[in-house]
Amino acid sequence: MSRPPIDLRSDTVTKPTPAMKRAMMEAELGDDVYGDDPTVNALEAMTADRLGKEAALFVPSGTMANQIAAAIHTRPGDELLCGETSHVYVWEAGGVARHSGVTARTFAGDAGLLRLEDIEHAIRPDDIHYTRTRLVWLENTHNRGGGRVHPMESIAAIRHWSRENQLLMHLDGARLMNAVVATGTAAADWARHFDTVSICFSKGLGAPVGSALAGSAEMIRRARAVRKLLGGGMRQAGILAAAAIHALEHHVDRLAEDHANAKILADAFRATEGFSLELGPVETNLVWVAVDPSMGTAAEVVAYLKTRGVRLSALGGQVIRACTHLDVSREDAEYAAGVIRQIEPAMITAVTLVY
Ligand SMILES: *Cc1c(COP(=O)(O)O)cnc(C)c1O
Repeated sequence: MSRPPIDLRSDTVTKPTPAMKRAMMEAELGDDVYGDDPTVNALEAMTADRLGKEAALFVPSGTMANQIAAAIHTRPGDELLCGETSHVYVWEAGGVARHSGVTARTFAGDAGLLRLEDIEHAIRPDDIHYTRTRLVWLENTHNRGGGRVHPMESIAAIRHWSRENQLLMHLDGARLMNAVVATGTAAADWARHFDTVSICFSKGLGAPVGSALAGSAEMIRRARAVRKLLGGGMRQAGILAAAAIHALEHHVDRLAEDHANAKILADAFRATEGFSLELGPVETNLVWVAVDPSMGTAAEVVAYLKTRGVRLSALGGQVIRACTHLDVSREDAEYAAGVIRQIEPAMITAVTLVY
C-alpha cells in the first residue's frame, strides 16, 4: 500500500475533522440575512471578543473580508498603501480597483513587511493633481514575506504616525492566529492597532469555509451592507459558522505543531544542496524555498516530489512553497523531510523526461 499524498500546497486544503462535522450537524440555524442565525451571531460575538473589537461580520472568504474593508474605509479615487507582495495587491484580482475605485500604492518594504520609513513620506499633498492617501494595509503573518510575523514595534510606530495623519489602518490577518501562537501576544493586542482586522477560519484553523471582518459597530454596520452588495449575504450560514467556532475553540493552540513541522521541512531544505530558504528562518507554517537552477525549475521539483507522494506549490520560476496545517502530522513532516533530503539533480531530470 502506498501512503496517501502529503499535501503541503496550502493550509486551505484541510478537511473538516469528525468533531467539526458533528458541531456543524448540530448547529442551530436561522436566516442570517434577517440576523436570525444564532450560530452566526455567536461566531460574530466570539470573533469580536477575541479581537477586542465591538463587532464582527462573518463572510464567505478572506478576499471578501478584505474587499469589504477597502470599501468601507475609502471613497473612489482614494489610495491605499501596501506591500508589493501583499495578498490584497497580488492575489485578489485587482479587487480594490474594481470594487472600490481605489489605487494601491506599493512598497518593497522588508520582503513585503512595511516599515514606517517605507511610507512616512508617502502621503499625497492636498492638491488637485493627487489622489487622497487614505488607508494603510498590513498583513500578519505575511504570506509572501515568508510567513513572518510583522514586528509589533513596527506596527505600533506606523499606527502612531497614521493617527497623526488621519489615515485608517486595516490588518489582513488571514493568519493572525499563527502570529498569536508564534509570539504569545494575544489577538486583541495585535488588533488594537487597526481600525479593522480580517481573519480566515479556512486556513490553518481548518474550517471548510469562512472568514470574518472585525471593527467598530459602525464600521461593521456598513460592512454588512457591502457584504450584501457583493452577494455575500448567506442564509442558514450557521452550519459554516459552527465549523469556525469549533476551529477557534480547538484549533488555535495546535498551530504550534504546524510551526514545529514547518521547521522540520525548513531544516531539510536548508540541508539539501540546490535549495535555500528564500526569506530566512521559518517563524510560522510557511516555508518559502529558492530552487537553484542547477536543480531544475520550481515546476520540475514540484513534479518530482509529487511522484514521491509530497505535494508542494511552485509559486515562481525558481520558488516553491511548503505549507503545514491540521492535516499534516509530525510523521508526515518527517517523511516529507526525508524525501527532500534525498533529492539530487539527476532525479529531477529523470522525472522531467517523462512529463
Ligand atoms: C488566503 C489569504 C487571503 C484570502 O482568503 P480566501 O479565503 O482565500 O479568499 C487573504 N489574505 C491572505 C494573507 C491570505 O493568505
